[in-house]
Amino acid sequence: MKRTVQIKLSFEDREYLDQTVKQFKEACQVTVNEGWNSNGLKTYNRNKLHHMVYERLRERTDLQANLVVRAIARGAEAIKGCVERLKNGLKVSKPNFTSDSIAYDKRTLTVKLDENKCTISTINGRIDGDFVLSKDENDYYKKYLNGEWSITHSTIEKHEYERNSPYYLHLGLEKEVEDIDITDPTVMGVDLGINNLAVTSTGKFYSGSELNYKRKMYEEIRGKLQEKGTRSAYLTIQQMGERENRSTCDTLHRISKDIVKEAKNKDVDVIAFENLKYVRKRMPKEKQFHTWAFEKLYHYVKYKAREIEISVKQVDPENTSRICNRCGHTEKGNRTNGRFKCRECGYELQSDYNASKNIGLRFLRREQKSSVRTGYGQLALKSGVLKPSGKFTPR
Ligand SMILES: [Zn+2]
Repeated sequence: MKRTVQIKLSFEDREYLDQTVKQFKEACQVTVNEGWNSNGLKTYNRNKLHHMVYERLRERTDLQANLVVRAIARGAEAIKGCVERLKNGLKVSKPNFTSDSIAYDKRTLTVKLDENKCTISTINGRIDGDFVLSKDENDYYKKYLNGEWSITHSTIEKHEYERNSPYYLHLGLEKEVEDIDITDPTVMGVDLGINNLAVTSTGKFYSGSELNYKRKMYEEIRGKLQEKGTRSAYLTIQQMGERENRSTCDTLHRISKDIVKEAKNKDVDVIAFENLKYVRKRMPKEKQFHTWAFEKLYHYVKYKAREIEISVKQVDPENTSRICNRCGHTEKGNRTNGRFKCRECGYELQSDYNASKNIGLRFLRREQKSSVRTGYGQLALKSGVLKPSGKFTPR
């Protein structure tokens, strides 16, 4: 489990930090410029980039070795992000390091909680950053460092929008968590799709129309701008791409939050998704955007669910859209467009809703095989729970 806490800092020698930030940004930029070849080859392998720029950065900057290593890593990450977006059919532009931020790790940052300060590497050796904390905040942070949590990658960021632009420590913390042990789980199935981005076995529908509409709109404007082919058109395309990305992530965050809230309201222990590897295979190439969106949504749900100890799993999605969740009859013809009507028992419902129930049931049946218990677990529905045996209990 990972967490980030923000601590405001004050420095006696702030000038050194300002200089360090400047040089760190330059080092990130040099790395990206080197990895981002004009011939279209983008290198994000850290070792390769290291060989290409490390010596030069040591000569050109006053950054100590470990900070150069972190700058190269940050540059590599930025290129990697772009390559992934390209793979998903999204537009990218060469990253520009404009924000005042430095990446730190155990070697370059020491937190001295008892002294309410940290020491960090700068171009002028180590300097102290004093914590600016109220007593409550102080107690709160101490809770995190009681031995369970360890410090991982952290950053120091300038908060430009605050008065006097103070620096903050964004302290990265992590701890090992055992997989949540559940002996009699309540499961909520989630089906992912294009028209309905997500449907839960508890009957919540999250429409994909907002994303689909925006996607279409962006594509149209982008096409027109590309025809123009001017430099300003190119810049507009870049900006639009970034805006689209932000807007998509916002939407997915909102939906993931709601899915986790729904799971909490229904006392769910496990949220079951289809295995995303299979989903990727199933989706046509021009729908790569959706595959990307599904993966983002899945990770957002997983992250948020973890915080409240709900586990998130993936199951094999084979036939989940063709099986009747009531009688088990499996036939392609059960499903016509958005409607599911069982040719055997006549059971009828929205097809993605049917699939979401099957996904939840598959998780339970799979678990049942490896368990000697009978009646193991239950599926969360709109107004009650269903045992894999078919017994429904209203709630
Ligand atoms: Zn049926």
